[in-house]
Amino acid sequence: MRNQTKQYINGEWVESASGQTIKVINPATEEVLGEVANGNEEDVNKAVEAAHNVYLEFRNSSVEDRKALLDKIVKEYENRKDDLIEAMTDELGSPLQKSEDVHYEAGLKHFKAAREALDTFEFEEQREDNLIVKEAIGVAGLVTPWNFPTNQTSLKLAAAFAAGCPVVLKPSEETPYAAIILAEIFDKVGVPKGVFNLVNGDGEGVGNPLSEHPKVRMMSFTGSGPTGSKIMEKASKDFKKFSLELGGKSPLIVLDDADIEFASKAAVSKVVNNTGQVCTAGTRTLIPESLKDEFLEAVKREMENVKVGDPREEGIEVGPIISKKQFDQVQDYIKKGIDEGATLFYGGEGKPEGLETGYFVKPTVFTDVDNKMTIAQEEIFGPVMSVITYKDLDHAIEIANDTKYGLAGYVLGENRDNLRHVARSIEAGMVEINEAGRAADLPFGGYKQSGLGREWGDYGIEEFLEIKSISGYFK
Ligand code: NAD
Repeated sequence: MRNQTKQYINGEWVESASGQTIKVINPATEEVLGEVANGNEEDVNKAVEAAHNVYLEFRNSSVEDRKALLDKIVKEYENRKDDLIEAMTDELGSPLQKSEDVHYEAGLKHFKAAREALDTFEFEEQREDNLIVKEAIGVAGLVTPWNFPTNQTSLKLAAAFAAGCPVVLKPSEETPYAAIILAEIFDKVGVPKGVFNLVNGDGEGVGNPLSEHPKVRMMSFTGSGPTGSKIMEKASKDFKKFSLELGGKSPLIVLDDADIEFASKAAVSKVVNNTGQVCTAGTRTLIPESLKDEFLEAVKREMENVKVGDPREEGIEVGPIISKKQFDQVQDYIKKGIDEGATLFYGGEGKPEGLETGYFVKPTVFTDVDNKMTIAQEEIFGPVMSVITYKDLDHAIEIANDTKYGLAGYVLGENRDNLRHVARSIEAGMVEINEAGRAADLPFGGYKQSGLGREWGDYGIEEFLEIKSISGYFK
């Protein structure tokens, strides 16, 4: 059993004030994996005090010291590779190879990117006799979701440490073990006492008091819109800064000169990666009317190659959905798609054959989807593709932007002018042309209801800084 019922506060593992625990479930087996603390306000107060006590010292630490700290973290993170992979396969149900290639690597790349950003980051600027200083904002509260247990935590932690901000992290109660290993890594490399604090628990018991605490100067959140809105409301009472990474319903636009095999591969991978539990998933697949049949045949061939099953089995690409609640949500959306008149082309309701235990779902494709339908407007957070046809480029752009979200967009084709025109026209924080990937030093974040602020690399560091001008500094 993976039991860790203590909190990590002020450089040591201490009993949780609540004395209560949360059972963590392995989504592939539905068995209890272990227990973690279900913290409360008292734990939060202790953690915030510990962070507050060192915030000036950490803010004033040299950039060289913070680079050295990040270097040590990178090394120890690499030493704990196997443990991180095991933990994420257990808690998230991510196939072992994906836990390594996607999740483990994602955390690592953020620590490296923040370290590299410090080589050129300008914390100070002279203007005539005056100085402009960017300095750490103070104690930061970090609240993260379950879908990328190392990515979401590491990108915030790396940026905060690079900026010189002490933190209190509340990871998702559904995937707390990767964060516990991160705490062990920081402990081992000697992150100064109070700079990193981990309070496990749920949103009510830990997330709320953290968002309201007067000594927390910034809240950095990734997760659902409704929770983001609650955090924003609480944080706005004393004008805390906040950064929010929320949901998405991103378009993947196949242009009429795209290679169909390439496009179908991209479209399928965009919806099945991480069992569809990805905020940037390209779940609205826009194709020219004339290519519909050819494209669907190619998608079917791709889908037939997608292996769903036990995340510990070799060759499996898609594991279970995180929980019963999320499984039910995905089933409800599939049902809604059928009820609202979309054509079920592949997959559908229920579990894949032979996978009765575990929260496994069938990768699913709907066609004849109208962009007004629920499945085209709401974030399903499961491997469900909605294929929507368009008449011309203007029509494609209109459909792409007809959403409350604006996180990501994808465009596939040959003509550079058209690719660039569409990329510039999509109202989203991140657009990828022809599967170019997303480098760790590019800003990550969304327009509209997909969030506020930008993370990753130097943009992520900026989020944790305040700006001060000192007139007459050089007189
Ligand atoms: P959630 O927003 O409820 O939880 C995310 C984090 O916020 C967790 O750590 C949770 O404990 C915490 N939290 C919950 N209530 C809080 C509160 N009042 N104050 C402070 N913290 C609080 O998300 P979820 O339940 O994990 O997932 C629900 C839906 O959110 C999913 O179906 C999906 O659509 C969306 N989601 C989006 C992302 C993303 O990256 N954009 C990630 C995960 C989930």
